[in-house]
Amino acid sequence: MKIEEGVALSGFTTIGTGGPARAFAAPKSLAELEQALEWARRHGLPVATVGLGSNLLVADGGVEMLVLKLGGELAAAAVDGELLVAGGGAPNAVCLHRARAAALGGLEFACAIPGTTGGGVWMNAGAYGSDWSGILARAFVVTAEGSGWLTPQELGLSYRHSELRHGQVVARVEFRLSPRPELEIRTVVADLQARRKATQPTNKRTFGSVFKNPEHELGAGAMLEACGLKGHRVGGAVISSRHANFIENADGATTADCLALMREARRRARERFGVELVHEVELLGPVELS
Ligand SMILES: Cc1cc2nc3c(=O)[nH]c(=O)nc-3n(C[C@H](O)[C@H](O)[C@H](O)COP(=O)(O)OP(=O)(O)OC[C@H]3O[C@@H](n4cnc5c(N)ncnc54)[C@H](O)[C@@H]3O)c2cc1C
Repeated sequence: MKIEEGVALSGFTTIGTGGPARAFAAPKSLAELEQALEWARRHGLPVATVGLGSNLLVADGGVEMLVLKLGGELAAAAVDGELLVAGGGAPNAVCLHRARAAALGGLEFACAIPGTTGGGVWMNAGAYGSDWSGILARAFVVTAEGSGWLTPQELGLSYRHSELRHGQVVARVEFRLSPRPELEIRTVVADLQARRKATQPTNKRTFGSVFKNPEHELGAGAMLEACGLKGHRVGGAVISSRHANFIENADGATTADCLALMREARRRARERFGVELVHEVELLGPVELS
């Protein structure tokens, strides 16, 4: 396994922004993952793992970290009885495909979440009333100090939140699914995807929801729309005219452009609704929001 320097992280985020990683490695097995963590420990570098970068804003100036991207057996998925056993780097789409082929239901809600199983654990990804905490049996978490299986309770999963910290790598997950006819899974998935397409900018470069929904009668998107933010642009980044809780990379956006839009959105939501919006997107590196 190579440890490379200066790999541009813009190639690893769906929004397409972000500077270089001080060091970058793509471990393909548990042994390689442990080697990478040991290398970082010896060099005194903190570690962060990226999945599909679909909920990630990385500092334009880069990050002084070892950034890991799981591959090989750490990104594979297979069915074992009614369990789906997957690497932490396995894309949700692959997991859903395997589950459907084995006529196992439970993962359908993840059809419109373009991430990995590990990224999903990190923030208890969810949609349409379901989330990771409802299907996750346990996750195998590896650190430089040791590794072990953790339950959803031990991971502290709540609304778009876990207690995981950088340096803790979700290397494997087990999802508990249940029998469902393949055709029924296909029909549900097609319906959910059509609903997504009708309301969200699914064909643009974004990082998913910018802010968590506040405890308010309006969701974050409706609130920002009411603030007149649809179409608001800073540099190459624009607030989606389809859904105001999305930022699109319209043309050469930077993370700084996205952050400027986020600050403006928070300011207007505070002034108009007295609500302090909390970002859902994960920030990596020296990134200042307030
Ligand atoms: C069009 C679009 C629609 C979306 N819709 C939804 C939705 O409906 N619901 C929803 O919840 N999210 C949604 N998202 C956001 C995103 O897809 C999810 O948050 C997803 O779970 C992130 O997974 P990822 O693998 O891309 O993680 P990344 O974005 O790569 O990383 C997110 C965080 O997880 C950490 N992480 C990633 N992998 C690991 C690992 N193996 N071990 C430890 N830490 C790790 C990273 O360090 C980072 O802090 C959407 C995004 C897009 C672009």
